[in-house]
Formats: sequence, C-alpha cells, structure tokens
Amino acid sequence: MTKRLSPETIAAQAGGAVDPVTGAIIPPIHLATTFERDPDNQYRRGYVYSRPDTPLTRQIEDVLCELEHGARALLVGSGMSAATAAFLALERPAHLVAPNVMYWGLKKWLAEDAPSYGIRTTFVDATDLEAIRVAIEPGTTRMVWLESPANPLWGVTDIAAAAALAHEAGAILAVDSTIATPVLTQPISLGADVVMHSATKYLNGHSDVLAGALVFARADAYADRAARFRSMVGTVIGPMEASLLLRGMRTLHLRVRHQCRSALQVARHFDGHARLEETLYPGLPGDPGHAVAARQMVGGFGGMLSIRVKGGETAAIRAAANLKVWKRATSLGGVESLVEHRASVEGPGTPCPTDLLRLSVGLEDPADLIADLEQALVANT
Ligand SMILES: *Cc1c(COP(=O)(O)O)cnc(C)c1O
Repeated sequence: MTKRLSPETIAAQAGGAVDPVTGAIIPPIHLATTFERDPDNQYRRGYVYSRPDTPLTRQIEDVLCELEHGARALLVGSGMSAATAAFLALERPAHLVAPNVMYWGLKKWLAEDAPSYGIRTTFVDATDLEAIRVAIEPGTTRMVWLESPANPLWGVTDIAAAAALAHEAGAILAVDSTIATPVLTQPISLGADVVMHSATKYLNGHSDVLAGALVFARADAYADRAARFRSMVGTVIGPMEASLLLRGMRTLHLRVRHQCRSALQVARHFDGHARLEETLYPGLPGDPGHAVAARQMVGGFGGMLSIRVKGGETAAIRAAANLKVWKRATSLGGVESLVEHRASVEGPGTPCPTDLLRLSVGLEDPADLIADLEQALVANT
C-alpha cells in the first residue's frame, strides 16, 4: 500500500495536479465565466458558469481537504463570507455559543447582524469548558463556534472536549482555525464538524489576496447549504486571486514553522520585560492555555502574540509609533511583521485591554524584530 503523502508534500505541489492539456506544472488561470455545453446538451466536463465554482476553486478545495482531513471544502472571497456562510447554512431558528474573545468583525456580525437572520448567540469565556457547557441549550443550540488561539489575547480551547460537549447536546462544533493553520492543528481530527479559515492570512501568507474557506468533516446537507449560498449569492473567489492563493499555499509549512520559531523567540525575550505588563503567547510555559496548546498544536504555537505596555494606552500607541521594522497595519499572517493597537480598531465594548499591541511575526530575522521592539519601548521614556 502506498503511504499517504505528507501535508507539506501536498501543499508544495498544490495537490500534484498537472494541466492535462499542456503539461503545465502550475495550473492555468481560466478567466472564462462560462463553459461550453456538449452537443447532446450535457456539461460532461463538469463546469458551467463561474459563480458556483471554477477549476482553481476545486483544486484549492482538494488541497484544503487533504490538509484538514475534511470530506469537502468551500473556497470563497473572504474569511467573513466563509464564516457567515457557515452560520447562514444552519437551520433556523438557531442558537449559537461563541467566544467572548474572538475575531472582532465576526463577533460584531453575530451580535448586530445575525439576529435579523434568526440566529441568536450566547457569548462565553471559551477557555472555560464549564462555561461552554452551561451556555449550550440542548436541542436548541445548533453550533458551538470556537477560535483557538483566539484574537487578540490568544486564549486556547480544548477542541476535543468542546466537540464532545457540542455533540452531546446535538450541536455541531465549528472552529475558526485561522491562527493555528492546518500546519499546527487539524480540528476535524479532534472532533470538529467544520473548520473555517481566513485564507487572507497564513494560507495565502503575502498580504495580497482576500480569501476564506470552510472545510467540512462530512459532505452532508449542511455542507450543501453552505455551497448553495456561495453559488446563489456569488461569494466565489475570482480566478486571479485563486491563483495567487494557490501559489502562497505552496510555502505554507515553511512559513508557519519559521513564524512559530521566531514568535517563540520574541515572546521569550519580552516575557517579564521591565517595560511590559504582560506578554501573551500560548507558547510560554506560564500562559494559562499552554498545557492544552502543547497537546493540541503540533510543531509550534503560532506566529501571533500580544504585549501589554506599561503606561497604558498612550504608551502603547507611542511604542507602536517608534517601530521601524514592524509595520503598523491591521491583518496578520504575512511575510512582513505587523503591529496593531487592537483596542483602537475594536472600539467601545472590546474585551481587548487598551495597553495591548498585537504582533504578527513575519519572516524577518527575529533579532531585527526584537531589537526594533526594544528601541521602541526605550524611546518611550
Ligand atoms: C481576518 C480574520 C477573519 C476574517 O477574515 P477576512 O478574510 O478578513 O474576511 C476571521 N477570523 C480571524 C481569526 C481572522 O484573523
């Protein structure tokens, strides 16, 4: 029997597909929005119109299924369109349990927009399994949504334990695994029913494509409804962006492993630093999520961390202004390191402390990143 290929082999070769017509090693970009019908009125070549899907969406979905151990995947134009498709595919009325601390845009949609679609959410401390258990309404709760590690405090949830709680109550478990990436965690193997990615982040990795994906444990009616949403509403990704994404995914493992090593180095350097209140990173032994993360994340703790600057909001914003190597910008997961004063973005009601700077570690020499942060904190006084 042939051994199953390792995930990095699959990613590096984009699933191994070679264009059957030309032998091209890199798949062609088909700009066509429409495909020819056979003389007998059939579509035997499998493509009809580019709103439901395209050759590149299918190829990327095959790779994502392999990386996440899923049965079916759905590639769309943003992480937000992936996540909202996962919610809107639920039967209504729907009750959801979701984290207090999670990607802000998605929390805002659940809190402010979802109710008008018949979706009600209870937000809980998702690092506390007992809080999740209490919030689940058996028979009514349709989904438990998790993010682990979760933006921007990097709290960790035991995915396998949360899956058991959700399933006991007849709900499904969905995981926003953008930060963990398929390199470090495969939530479906831990019992999750759906995995969501903002492919804008690590999957693409170069801050030049907006994309999102869902990967389903089963090709069932729920997955059909999510796919129908894409094909009816047109949240499909364009062929140019899909091609860039597939190129980015080829180096996913290399990038993420390097980013994990550098992030750990930065976190260790600044843990206990005289000018900081706190360094938040699940890779630090003192972090409350460390034990679960060490079990659940294989090969690293991710490329994201946060620091809390002594002196409050003003000192934090000033430190960010002093940085030269780290770029002040939102988003994460790219090859260049980014810093963001997250509370400014999230606004009133955010659980994010105002002295917090979120750091996305890129591929630069970690010594340069550490030195730049050092000078920025010193220049503050
Ligand atoms: C960016 C992000 C999203 C939203 O994805 P977009 O591609 O910006 O729509 C969702 N979850 C997490 C964790 C993110 O970082």
